[in-house]
Amino acid sequence: MDLSRFPRRRYTPFATPLEFLPNFTKALAASCPGGQGPEVWIKRDDMLGLFPGGNKTRKLEFLVADALAQGADTLVTCGAPQSNHCRITLAAAVKEGLKCRFVIEERVPDSYDVNASGNNFMFRLMGVEAITVVPGGSNMAAAMQKMADEVAALGRKAYIIPGGGSNAIGGLGYVACAQELQQQLFEQGVQIDRVVVGSGSSGTHGGLVAGFLGNHINIPIVGIGVSRDPADQQPLVLKEAQAVCGLLGLDITVRPQDVVCVGGYWQPKYSVPNAAMVEAVQLLARTEGIPLDPVYTGKIMAGLIGLARQGYFKPGEKLLFLHTGGLPSLHAYEAVVLGDPAATR
Ligand SMILES: *Cc1c(COP(=O)(O)O)cnc(C)c1O
Repeated sequence: MDLSRFPRRRYTPFATPLEFLPNFTKALAASCPGGQGPEVWIKRDDMLGLFPGGNKTRKLEFLVADALAQGADTLVTCGAPQSNHCRITLAAAVKEGLKCRFVIEERVPDSYDVNASGNNFMFRLMGVEAITVVPGGSNMAAAMQKMADEVAALGRKAYIIPGGGSNAIGGLGYVACAQELQQQLFEQGVQIDRVVVGSGSSGTHGGLVAGFLGNHINIPIVGIGVSRDPADQQPLVLKEAQAVCGLLGLDITVRPQDVVCVGGYWQPKYSVPNAAMVEAVQLLARTEGIPLDPVYTGKIMAGLIGLARQGYFKPGEKLLFLHTGGLPSLHAYEAVVLGDPAATR
């Protein structure tokens, strides 16, 4: 599959590491039926560029290249109060000499605090040009269009990036990741039986599905929902994967069985902590020294752990966990992840 005809900026000058997690594997097995669990590997997409990077870095390589090709001078995007996507988009804008504005959706009422730590702090540090806060459930596309019109009224040109950078162009970032992974598995001589990935705005999961199908990588992918259960999440990911295949000109029909979604680990609500997330964040930090974030990767790893304990994976099955980043928000939830019961709702 040839991605070279799509304009791309490069924000990471290396392939993210693919590593075995021996201590975590051992600790997980001890809590699985019969003391046997999967062999867990990790791909460190938390080490992507636009420091500290994450999955949005890969999508933005293609989205920002498209913005530049269209002559935009301002990036407009949206996200939740501790949005990794907004922070990484801002970092890309700064690097490219563009301005950047956000619409922040308060999915949890009164959760946006200008002075908060984590990503919010980085919005200010990197010099976001403007932030508009809207209530949960607002029409984000309309709010971003309004912001783009305000930019146009100043005689400038905005480029709108959808939430999470998840459209067909953004999804190309995870097609590129599929190709990087394929090469890496070959070079390191590793055979992986299943990939575990987070599934939110769908560009990561959907882009990987498209990239695996297009590159004939026959490794099943399981997507752990971070904001929706499978009935709502699966059609979203299928649509994204199909759109990416369409942009690539592939004659592929994505089938429902190509998109496996798991729910039950994101509750009580998107971004709101739960006990399984706290356990997962502590377990990886204390066995491998690798931090996860409370909003996404902590819940995604809680899904991996939960499925392993239910016997969903074959003993010894080689799992690849995709670490999608999100580290700054960990600092906005310090008491929660240290297990302060008063902080965990
Ligand atoms: C955005 C995000 C996800 C979810 O990825 P989508 O492409 O939106 O589905 C997972 N992990 C982290 C850390 C994120 O910031």
